[in-house]
Amino acid sequence: MHFSALGFDIDHTLGIDNKLERVAFLRLLDAMCNDGAKSLGTLAQESARIDELLERQRSGVCSIDQAVERFAAERGARTPGAWVERYKQMALESMPEFFVAQPDAREVLGELQRRGIACAILSNGWSPLQQEKARQLQFAGPVLVSDTIGAQKPQLEAFAVLAGALKTDPHEIAYVGDNPRGDVAAAISAGMSGIWFDAEDVSYAPELPEPSAVIHRLAELLALL
Ligand SMILES: [Mg+2]
Repeated sequence: MHFSALGFDIDHTLGIDNKLERVAFLRLLDAMCNDGAKSLGTLAQESARIDELLERQRSGVCSIDQAVERFAAERGARTPGAWVERYKQMALESMPEFFVAQPDAREVLGELQRRGIACAILSNGWSPLQQEKARQLQFAGPVLVSDTIGAQKPQLEAFAVLAGALKTDPHEIAYVGDNPRGDVAAAISAGMSGIWFDAEDVSYAPELPEPSAVIHRLAELLALL
């Protein structure tokens, strides 16, 4: 495997956000109920519904704005659309408390920068939130978020935007992520190398193309250069 530029996934690769968005939704529910809305069940049931909505948003079925508005409407909130900004504000404010970088992430990103390796982040999600995670990682390169680039992993268009931002031919790019299908196999389909960050209890589906490399710590990337 040869590469001269790197793309990174954020969530569960460079760091974890500890269910930040689920908690922001639950806090929003609390505020909504104080304003006359009605919860549809227990916290466990509401959490399951929230996770389902967030999953739909992350896989591109709906935007975060639509997810919040739908959640508010289902609970009889008076002006469902008005809760969107409140939700975003709550999630952004909670970020420093919830987001944790991988222990070696800042060091590795700094070292890649010193070695002149172009790096960019490509992430599915809504932009101010993912931009804030990148800021906390002290990430210096472009941050491409699905809601602003208009394409999301595993779509090839998202990886084309990444190659454009890196000003590098796809064959010279390696993409690093934890998700076998959405990160690794998708990058390989886009003509890049796909490096699987195997750091959680995820199994690699045998029908997917084999990863170009497997790492268990981000620092192992430096040995691949
Ligand atoms: Mg991920």
